[in-house]
Amino acid sequence: MHEYSIAQYIATILSDVAQEHGSRVQAATVAVGPMSMIVPELLHEAWTAVTYGSPLQGSELHIEHVPVRATCQECGHQTESFTPFVKCEACGSLRLKLASGHELQVVEAELEDSEAVSDES
Ligand SMILES: [Zn+2]
Repeated sequence: MHEYSIAQYIATILSDVAQEHGSRVQAATVAVGPMSMIVPELLHEAWTAVTYGSPLQGSELHIEHVPVRATCQECGHQTESFTPFVKCEACGSLRLKLASGHELQVVEAELEDSEAVSDES
């Protein structure tokens, strides 16, 4: 199952973060793009299963949807989309160069007795 291996991947990252800070992860936010084809409900289910019995058990997983960005190769217009099926908003062309949308990134982890650790700064 796609979501299951993704949940394991996220758990690995968060375990490292928790260890590094000598703390426990309470909640985490992951950014997913439409090309990752993640079903949020399944990811939450997988998260519960993967973290069961581990220090991450009971931590909350927040899913943040980020759009795919694509540049039209016909007219150069930039289009953003939340679905994996993108066509140019300006000219309707399907010849688009995708700049992003495969994202699956842990963007934030909230640790116990500590301030949020963010990747974004
Ligand atoms: Zn175009």
